[in-house]
Amino acid sequence: MRIEKRLRDILDRASAGLSPGRADCAYLLSFDENAAESYEMRSVAARLVRGANDNSAIILGQIGLEAAPCPGNCGFCSFGKGHTQFQKSRIDDETFISKLNDFCKDGDLYGLYLMSMHEYDLDFFLDKARLARKLAPATTQILSNVGDTDADGFKEMKKAGITGVYHVSRIGEGDVTDLDPKRRLQTMQNALDAGLQIFSCLEPIGPEHSIEELVENMFIGIDLGCTQHAAMRREPVPGTPLENKGQISNLRLGQIVATVALATLSLPSMTYMGVHEPSEIGYVSGANVVTAETGVNPRDAAADTAHGRGMDMAACRRMLLDCGFRYIRRGDESKIALADTAATDDSVKRYSPRP
Ligand code: SF4
Repeated sequence: MRIEKRLRDILDRASAGLSPGRADCAYLLSFDENAAESYEMRSVAARLVRGANDNSAIILGQIGLEAAPCPGNCGFCSFGKGHTQFQKSRIDDETFISKLNDFCKDGDLYGLYLMSMHEYDLDFFLDKARLARKLAPATTQILSNVGDTDADGFKEMKKAGITGVYHVSRIGEGDVTDLDPKRRLQTMQNALDAGLQIFSCLEPIGPEHSIEELVENMFIGIDLGCTQHAAMRREPVPGTPLENKGQISNLRLGQIVATVALATLSLPSMTYMGVHEPSEIGYVSGANVVTAETGVNPRDAAADTAHGRGMDMAACRRMLLDCGFRYIRRGDESKIALADTAATDDSVKRYSPRP
């Protein structure tokens, strides 16, 4: 297969541990998703990511704690106050504990996100974080996915057992949302200042976004020294203002995943690479994080995403196994052979990848 020399040079440098910068990332994203170059970059990214960590992936879980019409009013989110059908609600302890046990009972969850809205009750969140830290195995990290927060709030989260924070400044922040991009960025810095890790994502990607917008957004997390990065395509959530704006293909998303994976290979803080929604193409393009979700979810109009878009733990393990990963890692980086995990039935074990 003949591919452009510039691409060959970029991939050779990546194989030697030198990640592409902004200009080379723009070049990688300039190819059609079906070009030979795109297939090549997806496969090289997957090979390098897997080669760097013994072909391991991780499973994250997420529990939505609260739902409300949200002042963030994001045009892609089911909770935006201008269009949401959700009423104010809050998870009770019994449901929270039941969901946490579902995620953690087999001891192979890397990290558990606790998710709330842009405006949230910090005391309620800290109460749930402490409960999660008490009940979850020590090998499962407790993570936060909430709105803009100051450094003191994050310091309290750290005391409650939180180790990492998902936070991003989205593509079009301030235009398709009612939030201030500067405040979103300051929140990421606040988390770092409080001693927490930053989990970033290039999101939510739609077909109208330019290559320049994608590159600028993906380098926010890179420049801040994120611990995880990811790429997410925009879902056409029913009833949201951006519902009819269209959607990129999973093949294009895989190309974007590959670009972010290559761009973060030499980032010392980087550990794992995600793709949303989880897809096999993403996992053969450099992603190695899958997220199981339950409760409310901004990308789902269902009140409990476990009955809608969300995947459970068994489905996550199955997808990783199907994609040829050999191990999953717990939050302390210890490994479990994926074929030996719970919820893989005998037929899956029989045909699972072996060394
Ligand atoms: S994405 Fe977050 S900030 Fe935006 S409307 Fe939804 S919950 Fe609010």
